[in-house]
Amino acid sequence: MKHSVVMIVGGGPAGMTAAIQLRRYGFDPLVFESKRLGGLLWNANLVENYPGFPGGISGPELVKKISQQFSHLGIRMKRQQIERVDYDGEIFTVESKYQSFTCDVLVLAAGTKPNQFPSGLIPDEAASRVYYEVSDLADRCKASIAIIGAGDAAFDYALNLASWENEVMIFNRGTEIKALPLLLDRVLKFSSITYYQNTSLNAVQSVEGKLQLGMVDVSGKTSYKVDALLGALGRSPTGPHRTERLSANLAHLQENGRLHLVGDLHNGIYRQTAIAVGDGLKAAMKIYQFLRGEDEQ
Ligand SMILES: Cc1cc2nc3c(=O)[nH]c(=O)nc-3n(C[C@H](O)[C@H](O)[C@H](O)COP(=O)(O)OP(=O)(O)OC[C@H]3O[C@@H](n4cnc5c(N)ncnc54)[C@H](O)[C@@H]3O)c2cc1C
Repeated sequence: MKHSVVMIVGGGPAGMTAAIQLRRYGFDPLVFESKRLGGLLWNANLVENYPGFPGGISGPELVKKISQQFSHLGIRMKRQQIERVDYDGEIFTVESKYQSFTCDVLVLAAGTKPNQFPSGLIPDEAASRVYYEVSDLADRCKASIAIIGAGDAAFDYALNLASWENEVMIFNRGTEIKALPLLLDRVLKFSSITYYQNTSLNAVQSVEGKLQLGMVDVSGKTSYKVDALLGALGRSPTGPHRTERLSANLAHLQENGRLHLVGDLHNGIYRQTAIAVGDGLKAAMKIYQFLRGEDEQ
């Protein structure tokens, strides 16, 4: 089993920042990332609240910059999904399907996973046309795409898809729009985006290479044919399975500086890049103090 002093599960903004700061202290953290470095930020149309970019910066551009900083420092990264983490009283075991690792200090920065459509709504033959992140549709152009949701992500996704020259429909089952007003203003400027309210999805079928969406609105039932369906139904914390004995010691391990939960995974509704980055940085500083045997000031 390979041992590292510090391991980080998740290579989004939080995990990458923790690794960058730890490297600056002279440590050699090992980061596990199941998909690609950058995390959810790949989906952000325009990040306007991250300091240092007066005109805003696209999510992918910001990922590029953080990734450059990460690779310049020679930080170790393994592209593996971590399935399970355990703590035996002395060290952590971190397991993927293929390998087991151990470490003294663990950072969990696994972010969130998308909430899915209710089971039974999407038949198997339609599943390949159903998405939950707009970055998975980045190669689409001139397609018709339906988004279900009414929050920031739904409207942000629509802006990306329209700027890639797709026809977009946003379906809100109610009338309340939870997205930032500035996102709504931008969406309304695109003639290729149509917004529907009081319209719920109640059936999905795969028909001749397209999806047929059965919708219910105030006038009754209607249907739409689209190339893809994108769910923007909210997100929930994710990460590897934590064993019972780890979970039982969670608070204690966090207090004594061995375990750190950072970023969106831990931040409830306060899911923003600058917060995740700050969390990662703070965890690295605490780890530095812990490993040097210093008390917090
Ligand atoms: C459409 C959209 C627009 C946004 N716009 C903005 C914005 O304008 N401004 C802003 O500040 N924020 C924005 N955000 C939010 C921002 O992207 C997140 O707050 C930020 O990415 C959180 O960073 P994180 O590192 O905590 O988690 P994530 O970015 O989710 O990264 C977690 C990483 O962990 C990996 N992972 C998960 N489980 C495992 C596992 N078991 N093993 C290995 N790896 C694992 C994932 O693959 C992922 O790469 C937006 C988000 C979306 C979806």
